Order: sequence, then structure tokens, then C-alpha cells
Amino acid sequence: MLLPPKCPTPDCDDWLWKDTTTTDTDWDNWRWWCRRCDRRWYPTAQQLRDFRRGSSGGGRHRTGPAYGDPRVAPR
Ligand SMILES: [Zn+2]
Repeated sequence: MLLPPKCPTPDCDDWLWKDTTTTDTDWDNWRWWCRRCDRRWYPTAQQLRDFRRGSSGGGRHRTGPAYGDPRVAPR
């Protein structure tokens, strides 16, 4: 299971959180968020792939087009 990156701010070094408040239009449109700095960063393309399925764990292989987003119920 992947661990999130740490805050780029040198004197912070807190873990970053996955902020999904902006994913209403695009599931890949999320940001890293530091709760200490209250700042956000864009994830890299690699991180978009690695963290697409969230932190719920489970299988590594893709099982369908919904990618775990409960708002995009497969029909
Ligand atoms: Zn920080």
C-alpha cells in the first residue's frame, strides 16, 4: 500500500492528505493538502495513477470504469 508524500515545506514535514473536494467534474482533479500549512499542491502524473483508487486498499488491478468513485455508479 502506498504512503502519501510529505509536505514540501521544509519546516513542516507533515503527511499530505488527498483533497477530493474538487473531483466533482473529474476524478483526477484532486490535490494534495497539508493540514498544517493549509496549502495545496498538484499531484504528479505518477501520483495520479498511483493514488487514483484512494487509500482503501484492496486489489491493484482495475476492475471497472468507476475507479471506486461512489458517485459514478456503474450501470
Ligand atoms: Zn505543511
